[in-house]
Amino acid sequence: MRKPEHIGIAVKDLSSSIPLFEKLLNTPCYKREIVEREQVETAFLKIGDTKIELLQSIDPEGVIAKFIEKKGEGMHHIAFDVEDIYAEMERLKDAGFSLLSDSPKEGADNKLICFLHPKTTNGILIELCQEK
Ligand code: ZN
Repeated sequence: MRKPEHIGIAVKDLSSSIPLFEKLLNTPCYKREIVEREQVETAFLKIGDTKIELLQSIDPEGVIAKFIEKKGEGMHHIAFDVEDIYAEMERLKDAGFSLLSDSPKEGADNKLICFLHPKTTNGILIELCQEK
């Protein structure tokens, strides 16, 4: 893994959360994108070498909606930039981590992504992402 690529934050409502994070970080949101497959709309803010990804569910049954129902709004995952996602998935599987998918999926922001199950990472949802 090379560096933290972004931090994902689950929010109820992008229209109020974007201005809040713009004010907090003193930087504008530079991209919004809907990822149908993940049932989310995302919004990105750059901060130094990394990014904040705000995630709002577009489906009441979606994973982010369920996360907020259980835990409330807040930090959802940490994403790490990897050079070769296939090699990294293999390495982590061999090291005993459990992956949430057998092959990478299309994520927001032009990335291939894969999540690690939090039960094998001390409760932290970890995302691997590789620039396409
Ligand atoms: Zn993410």
